[in-house]
Amino acid sequence: MQAKQQLLIGGAWVDGDAERFAKLDPVSHQELWQGASARDAQVEAAVAAARQAFPGWARTSFAERQALVERFRGVLESHREDLATAIAGETGKPLWEARTEVGAMIGKVGLSVRAYEERTGERQRDLGDARAVLRHRPHGVMAVFGPYNFPGHLPNGHMVPALLAGNTVVFKPSEQTPLTADLVLQCWCEAGLPAGVINLVQGAAPVGQALAASRDIDGLLFTGSAKVGGLLHQQFAGQLDKILALELGGNNPLVVRDVPDQDAAVLTILQSAFLSGGQRCTCARRLMVPQGEVGDRLLEALVSAIDKLRVGGQFSEPAPFYGGLVSVAAADGLLKAQDDLEALGGTVLSRMRRVEDNTSLLSPALIDVTGLALPDEEHFGPLLKVYRYKDWGEAVTIANDTRYGLSAGLIGGSRDDWDDFLLRIRAGINNWNRQTTGASGDAPFGGVGDSGNHRPSAYYAADYCAYPVASMESEDL
Ligand code: NAD
Repeated sequence: MQAKQQLLIGGAWVDGDAERFAKLDPVSHQELWQGASARDAQVEAAVAAARQAFPGWARTSFAERQALVERFRGVLESHREDLATAIAGETGKPLWEARTEVGAMIGKVGLSVRAYEERTGERQRDLGDARAVLRHRPHGVMAVFGPYNFPGHLPNGHMVPALLAGNTVVFKPSEQTPLTADLVLQCWCEAGLPAGVINLVQGAAPVGQALAASRDIDGLLFTGSAKVGGLLHQQFAGQLDKILALELGGNNPLVVRDVPDQDAAVLTILQSAFLSGGQRCTCARRLMVPQGEVGDRLLEALVSAIDKLRVGGQFSEPAPFYGGLVSVAAADGLLKAQDDLEALGGTVLSRMRRVEDNTSLLSPALIDVTGLALPDEEHFGPLLKVYRYKDWGEAVTIANDTRYGLSAGLIGGSRDDWDDFLLRIRAGINNWNRQTTGASGDAPFGGVGDSGNHRPSAYYAADYCAYPVASMESEDL
């Protein structure tokens, strides 16, 4: 597939009118995409095109909408490798992981159809002289914002349910991943997308600001940082007629209660903290280990496992555990975060280093920050902070000492400990003896606190893409 390097407005591919930008592979520096951002007037034109397409699309039957998304699934299948190569190239993630992401996109289509039927399908109850009917109606024009770390799967997780419910969409991908968005929109077109049903506006924050400020959108489905999500939340305050779904970051805790199997515990920690180079919203950022011998031995084993972890280019062989960060600038930011934590008194147990000069490849950092007062920040990369706790009560207190509440994990412990953990820990996605980075497609996916406004996605996205309408009806007066 060839990139169009354009915007898609009302079914036509057009050049952006604002400044040009390029996306480079953060490891090889090859230019992957270059095009122009959307000007404000083009953002408004995309919203107007979605508004114009809405009545016709909302009147189609569910079977027609399902047929489109099923064709889309087939087109994704036929471009699997192109999509995976694009995702790996621009995010820095290894090809194996990008292939998994494309598989998840494909799986999402079937899941969304099932969710629509089960959660938002029509229900009827016979009352004798009348029927009570529950239907669901689309909201109208939905703005979908994507983050860079899953540029195919996450926007898809909003767009497919939105479309199935009869909404139309304006999609604003991350400026770090314009290529994936470009190719995915071409897949929609190849599947027979009617003009205006999905529109694409490329560019950075100003494009997002223009779209969020548009009076003619009915909802905004956002996955990204707490910083930007918080701004949008303020902007939408008082607009009760608009849907705002925020899926944001976290400062996720992983508590080690005891260590019945050291190798398994180390693997769970590595997969929790460093999968995708720490660029998953659910990655563990804070590890709580018991003071004393058990904790010491575990940390020793962890340091030695980190030394052996394979970090490498997306397409290198043998396949790396994780690849590059999304940009060289993002890698610079993580190295600075390590310096800052050290300056605040942290003890570096494993030092993060640049694996190759002038690339975004970083080795993991493990930093003991026990007892330090730190800013409650999400470091979106391979950096894990360690806290040595005195007792269970202190472990729970440290774990909850965050404004976020996305994922949390417990390693070891009894079922009573797990029950207690679930009651006391404030997080939307919890894991016992499992990596914090796992997710089940048909479970709610979302956080509390500053991790979002708890409109969980995955299977449950169908809920916020349509609103329920109740009626009492009879053919006879
Ligand atoms: P980001 O917030 O920087 O960007 C997200 C989107 O918002 C991008 O399209 C960006 O261009 C746009 N944007 C940036 N500034 C804006 C502004 N002022 N107004 C309007 N739009 C603006 O996020 P990112 O760096 O691309 O992604 C990483 C973040 O996403 C992490 O914090 C991660 O935890 C989070 N995330 C959350 C989930 C989840 O499901 N909870 C999933 C993946 C990623």
